[in-house]
Order: sequence, then C-alpha cells, then structure tokens
Amino acid sequence: MDFTIKIYKELLKSLQDAGFFFQTYAGYSDKSTKQQKEVDHHKRIILRHDVDARPENSLRFARIQAKTGIVGTYYFRMVPQSYNEAIIKEMVALGHEVGYHYETMDTCKGDVDKAYEEFCRNLETFRKLTPVNTISMHGSPLSNFDNRDIWKKYDYKKLGIIAEPYFDINFNELYYITDTGRRWDGHLFNVRDKATKENPVTNPEFLKLRFHSTKDIIDSVNAGTFPKQAMLNFHPQRWNDALVPWVKELVWQNAKNQVKRVLVRRSR
Ligand SMILES: [Zn+2]
Repeated sequence: MDFTIKIYKELLKSLQDAGFFFQTYAGYSDKSTKQQKEVDHHKRIILRHDVDARPENSLRFARIQAKTGIVGTYYFRMVPQSYNEAIIKEMVALGHEVGYHYETMDTCKGDVDKAYEEFCRNLETFRKLTPVNTISMHGSPLSNFDNRDIWKKYDYKKLGIIAEPYFDINFNELYYITDTGRRWDGHLFNVRDKATKENPVTNPEFLKLRFHSTKDIIDSVNAGTFPKQAMLNFHPQRWNDALVPWVKELVWQNAKNQVKRVLVRRSR
C-alpha cells in the first residue's frame, strides 16, 4: 500500500542516507543567508506540504520530521478545515516554516481589490503566529478563478513575501513533483495544471524521469539517479495508515444506527 506513514518514513530515511540536505522553501529562496551559500552545491530537498484539510495529519508529518532533524514547509489555508493555531504554533516550535496557502480570488469571486484586502488581513493573522516569508496558491479544481491573478495587479514582495513557488521557482533547476491524485506523476496528465503549461520543463535530465509510486522515488534515491535539487509537494490529508480502522468505524457506526432505528421503532 502506498501513501502510508510507513512508506513516508522510508522515503525520508532514503533521502537522509543519500546525504540530502533539507531546506525550508524560505531558506532555499533567501539567497543572502550564509546557510544558502554553504548548501548551494549540495544535494537538497524541500519538503512542501499543502494543508488543504485535516491539519492533524500534517502535524504528524511535522513531528516525524523533527524527530530526525528534518525541516519542512507547511502552507495553511484560512478556512476552518485547515487553519489551526495550536498546530501552527507547534510546527513553528519544531523549527518548520509555516506559510499562507491563499485562495482569496475564489472567496472574493474574482474581485481583485477585495481579494488583495482579504489576503493582507489573513496574512496579518498568520503573522501573529510566525513571520510568514513565503506563500503558495491553493488551486481549487472546481473554481472559475485563478488565485494567482491578484499578482497581476499587486506585488507580494511589497508585503515582505520573498517567494511564491509558481512565480519564483525555476522548474528546470529544481525538480518538482506532487502527490496530487495519490500518485507522483499525475501532474503530467493534469490539463488544469497551469504551472507546467506556462513553464514547461525542458531540462533533459528531468524529462527522462518518471515516478508513479513513492517506492519509485525511494528506488531512484537509493540508486543515485534522483535529481540533486528537488521540491516534493505533499498533501498529508491523503496519507494515512488508519484506513482499515476508519472503515471499520464507519461500518460499526452504521450498524449501531440501524440497531438504534429498530429499537426506536419497537419502543413506539
Ligand atoms: Zn491546496
């Protein structure tokens, strides 16, 4: 089974054993830091997490990473199913980077000025917990709007944001893969993935590669064929070992409700 905590730990271990250096996205983007200069020619990995929902799953990832001295970047949405101050605070205390996964063009129905205002307000709320240096847009597959369109009119760098992956990553230098759709090569077929359409990857080294399962990545890391610089984008709400107990719980709840219904009917 793929996308389990077990295979996740194996992936981290293979990267560590292969000598990869783990960087936050802010650390990678800040070209002025001493650390940046030191790791410039090393193998490095950015673990990026889009906390679309179930933040407790992301916290689990964050704790696993911290135990082995790994740092990651976590982007939270400003919606109840994602934003959780206690979890954000714990992640920051563990040494991780927390950023804002914005979607205000969606929430403001494409009104760019309102979207910018709401973005700024939300950013301030995040910044009460941690100095947010990077952001990433949330892409709702059903939305008519592109959340990045705020930046056609406004400039996030004026807000002290140093980087947004869609605009500031050279995808021919930094190898990018995402677990969207519970597979690592789904973006290759995703017609809505505007990033790959607008910035096509032409690096021949990258074009040769194709990873479907997490095991494919681990094998490549172990064989020394994995790119020297990469961003892995996770959606931790889809990673779970507790699927079987969860299904059992669901079946049990339904059974209990059935019994309750029968009992209620009988007592009438
Ligand atoms: Zn998202």
